Amino acid sequence: MTLRHDALIVGGGIVGAACALYLARRGLRPLVLEADFVGSGATSAGMGHLTVMDDSPAQFALSSHSCSLWSDLGDQHGELWEEDPCGTLWVAAEEEELPLLASKAAFYRERGLEVEELSAADLAKAEPELRPGLSGGLLVPGDRVIYAPKAVRWLMEEAVALGAEVKEGSNVLSLEDRTAVCDSGSFEADVIVLAAGAQSARLLPSLPLEPRKGHLVITDRYPGFCRHQVLELGYLKSAHQMSGQSVAFNVQPRATEQVLIGSSRELVGWDKSVNRGLVHAMVERAIEYMPRLAELSVLRTWTGFRPASRDNLPFIGRWEPIDGLWIAAGHEGLGITTSLATGELLADLIVARQPTLDPSPFDPMRVVGGS
Ligand SMILES: Cc1cc2nc3c(=O)[nH]c(=O)nc-3n(C[C@H](O)[C@H](O)[C@H](O)COP(=O)(O)OP(=O)(O)OC[C@H]3O[C@@H](n4cnc5c(N)ncnc54)[C@H](O)[C@@H]3O)c2cc1C
Repeated sequence: MTLRHDALIVGGGIVGAACALYLARRGLRPLVLEADFVGSGATSAGMGHLTVMDDSPAQFALSSHSCSLWSDLGDQHGELWEEDPCGTLWVAAEEEELPLLASKAAFYRERGLEVEELSAADLAKAEPELRPGLSGGLLVPGDRVIYAPKAVRWLMEEAVALGAEVKEGSNVLSLEDRTAVCDSGSFEADVIVLAAGAQSARLLPSLPLEPRKGHLVITDRYPGFCRHQVLELGYLKSAHQMSGQSVAFNVQPRATEQVLIGSSRELVGWDKSVNRGLVHAMVERAIEYMPRLAELSVLRTWTGFRPASRDNLPFIGRWEPIDGLWIAAGHEGLGITTSLATGELLADLIVARQPTLDPSPFDPMRVVGGS
C-alpha cells in the first residue's frame, strides 16, 4: 500500500526534527520516518555544545544564525535550557599560538560576535583547574550547552503539535522519484528530505559522506570542577583532518556536575567498538591541560558517528538527480548547533520563501559540479 503525504523526512535525529519543525511552521504536514527511535543516532552521542564556529565564513553564518535561533527558542521555552550559558573558552598553550588566538578574536569581532581575550593570568582565574603556564585564552560568552537527547524530543513534539507525524521503527530501504520505500510499505510525497545523518550515504551512495567516529568519556559528579566548555586552539585542525586518527582537548561542565571529556576523530567505517588506545590518548591530552582530571572517576565511555563531508560543510538543498529529493545531512561535529538554521533554510527553499542565509555554500549539487 502506498500512502501520500505533504512531505517525508527520512531520519529523526536533531536535523530531521528541525526540518520537521520548520516545514510544519511553513504550513506543511511532514511525516518523519525514523528507523529506530527519535534521537537514536549521532544526536544522542554528542556533547551538545552550541557554538559559533569560525572555520569558514559559511560555517560562521550557519552556526551563528543557528545559535540565535536556539536562543530565541530557549527564551520562549525555558525548559530547553539546563543552565546559564557557560560560554566557550579557547586556550592557547604556547606563545606561538597567540597570533592565531588574536586572528580568531578579530574574525569574530568583525562579524559582531562578543568575545573577550584573556591574558595568562585571566585564563587561570577563569578556569582554575587549567595547568599553570598556558599562554592565553579567548572567551566566547554567548556559547552554551544543551542536552541533545531531550532537545531532539522537544523539537519533534513541537513539530507534531503543528501537524507533523512521526513513525519510529520505520526503516527506509530505498528512495525513488517522490517515493520512500520502507520495510512497512511505500510512502509518496512531492518533497522527500534525506536527513539520515551519516547513514544518508547508504540510501544515496553518490553523496560523499563518511561516518567519522568519536569517543566521549563522562566522569562522576565533581561540583564546580570546570566552568566553561574549554577547548584547545588546535581543535579545528583535529576536526578538519580527514585521515588517520586525531584527538583534541575539549571538556564540558554538565548540569549534572559531571565532566564530559572529548574528543577523538577516526575513519573506521561503522565499527562502534571503543578504541582503548585512542581513548587513552584523548584523556592524556585532556590531562596535559587540566592535570587534576587524572584524579576523577570515569563512569562511562561511548562512541558516535559524525556525518562528515569532505569540505567540512553540510549538504542543505535539492538533489537534482532524483525527483522531489532534498538533502539535510553532513553536519559533522556541529549538527546540534546548526540543526535549527538547517531546518529553517531547507524549509524556506522548499516553500520558495526568501531564505535568511545564502544557501549556495551548502548546495548538495556542489559535489557533482552542478553549482
Ligand atoms: C562524539 C561526538 C561529539 C559531538 N559533539 C557535538 C557538539 O558538541 N555540538 C554539536 O553541535 N554537534 C556535536 N556532534 C555532532 C552532532 O551530534 C551531529 O552532527 C548531529 O547529531 C547530526 O544529526 P543528524 O540528525 O544529521 O544525524 P543523526 O542524529 O545520526 O540522525 C539520523 C537519524 O536517521 C535515522 N536513520 C538512518 N538511516 C535511516 C533509514 N534508512 N530510514 C529511516 N531512518 C534512518 C537514524 O536512526 C538516526 O536517528 C558530535 C558528534 C559526536 C559523534
